[in-house]
Amino acid sequence: MSAGWLRACALVMLGLFSVSALAKDKTAIVIGGGLAGLTAAYELQNKGWQVTLLEAKPSMGGRSGMATSEWIGNDKTQPVLNKYVSTFKLTTTPAPEFVRTPGYLIDGEYFTAADLATKQPATAEALKRYEKTLDDLARSIADPQNPAANSTLFALDQINVANWLDRLNLPATARQLVNQQIRTRYDEPSRLSLLYFAQQSRVYLGVADRDLRASRLPGGSPVLAQAFVKQLKTIKTSSPVSAITQDKDGVTVKVGSVGYQADYVVVAVPLRALNKIQMTPSLDAQHMGAIKGTNYGWRDQIMLKFKTPVWESKARMTGEIYSNAGLGMLWVEPALKGGANVVINLSGDNARVMQAFGDKQMVDQVLIRLHAFYPQARGSFTGYEIRRYSTDPSMGGAYLAFGPGQISKYWRLWERPIQRVAFAGEHTDTLYPGTLEGALRTGQRAASQVEDLAAGKSFEPVKVVPAATVAAAGAVAAKQGNFFTNLFGGADDKPVPVKAPEPVAPVAPAPAPTPALAPAPAPAPVEAPKPATPVKAEPAKKAPVKAAAKKPAAKTEAKKAPVKKAEPAKKVAVKPAATPVTDTKAQ
Ligand SMILES: Cc1cc2nc3c(=O)[nH]c(=O)nc-3n(C[C@H](O)[C@H](O)[C@H](O)COP(=O)(O)OP(=O)(O)OC[C@H]3O[C@@H](n4cnc5c(N)ncnc54)[C@H](O)[C@@H]3O)c2cc1C
Repeated sequence: MSAGWLRACALVMLGLFSVSALAKDKTAIVIGGGLAGLTAAYELQNKGWQVTLLEAKPSMGGRSGMATSEWIGNDKTQPVLNKYVSTFKLTTTPAPEFVRTPGYLIDGEYFTAADLATKQPATAEALKRYEKTLDDLARSIADPQNPAANSTLFALDQINVANWLDRLNLPATARQLVNQQIRTRYDEPSRLSLLYFAQQSRVYLGVADRDLRASRLPGGSPVLAQAFVKQLKTIKTSSPVSAITQDKDGVTVKVGSVGYQADYVVVAVPLRALNKIQMTPSLDAQHMGAIKGTNYGWRDQIMLKFKTPVWESKARMTGEIYSNAGLGMLWVEPALKGGANVVINLSGDNARVMQAFGDKQMVDQVLIRLHAFYPQARGSFTGYEIRRYSTDPSMGGAYLAFGPGQISKYWRLWERPIQRVAFAGEHTDTLYPGTLEGALRTGQRAASQVEDLAAGKSFEPVKVVPAATVAAAGAVAAKQGNFFTNLFGGADDKPVPVKAPEPVAPVAPAPAPTPALAPAPAPAPVEAPKPATPVKAEPAKKAPVKAAAKKPAAKTEAKKAPVKKAEPAKKVAVKPAATPVTDTKAQ
């Protein structure tokens, strides 16, 4: 009896030890402290992993918005976001009804949707026609997870949205407003794949605005980011990763000359930032093509702060207001503690043109225009905040916006891990890219993939679509008059012109920009563009030049620099003087 009891105790002890040994051995590094990386780190930590989160910037939260009170969807539309809001017991307040219909600022005059129908019926009618045609197009996609299901749909990927809009022959004002909506939500219509536009419209088809803007999150998404930060044990800010080396035993991640080791890595940085991280073994041509070529929308945000709501005298401006006159999309912020804010979203090629301006000049340009509509604006102006996502090297764009031909090449590419590296970030989500929900979903997915990898699961290699299939699909589509031409609202059977993908580099010279926001004379000279937030100079440059020139930086430095097992900061303290790293726990 007592021998049996001892044996049982020994087994229990053994079990306990092996479990705790396993837990101790499970180490992961998460690169990127946006909402995707934070989610991945949080989920892995909850499952017993020792997680180190490395963030390039001095602060956490990545692209999470600058709005001080964001609208969020309800359980139906944003289930993952709502789950975390309730897990962290964050306060939300119901959204007032009036935010739900967009307004319009046409040549300086404010219109509600109802105003537009009576005062500018031709414009209102054209907007309806556009929406109906877009809904029909969206309905042609049966499965938004597989938008290129047949050759006809596949061919939509070769066409840009501007070509499709041309065929609708909208009156000038309606077209300007439609352009503004599309470039605010995605990117310039001429840079956007029609298939991507249709797929996203399919995802949101029939979703009521009441569900999409159900409540407000006071403090905005940074509040959610901070809630994650509070839960995480090991976060290192000001730690830009420069290299990832993986082999059969594990992964080494370099921050300057410091190496961190772990079993697995989640890379949760945008593609432009990934382009600056050296991967060993290197990625294949398809992944490299995606990193360099995938289009990102361009959207800068300026928050103008006023003592009083300067628009009150002319109209009640709330929610989203689309302007036809170059102010982009305006978002009127609720005044939390007195005063009033307007967030101006400059997007698409209007924003690309403005990249030559420094922050102050850009604000002046916007104020000049706002002042023309609302003369009290200047007197009441108290200051601004600005975020320029596309010229920020840690981001390189606002969010994913597939360009022509890119779904055909890169669809769901980043959903599969490569050996010990899993990928997260809004750009890796199939249904909700460019949103908080998308970022959170991918953090969860990457965390569970790391668990799967540790359990021995392997992921299929990515299937590349042969170029011949693409060409054949285009040819088939061009012949299929009925369905295809119906999508364009046309009656003829002429093949729809198939445009080659356009250049998509983040600072590509803009094609003849819409002159809507042509710079007005500015009081100060034009400055070179600069990143919104200074990013620490990469310490890797301090490594000996000779060694770095001979071998890939990661390998060379791994020998010279201390290598850390990625685990809680107190246990790993080796930091070269040249690379001071801030250990952060909730700011
Ligand atoms: C203007 C604008 C408005 C938006 N509005 C909404 C909205 O209303 N509703 C909504 O749901 N979504 C909105 N979004 C989208 C949402 O903000 C993003 O989808 C989400 O924040 C992206 O999170 P992420 O973790 O994928 O990427 P990020 O937030 O970009 O996180 C990536 C992180 O990686 C870091 N990083 C980069 N390189 C390195 C490196 N080498 N080493 C270490 N760290 C690195 C970056 O500094 C960054 O912190 C908006 C986005 C923008 C730009």
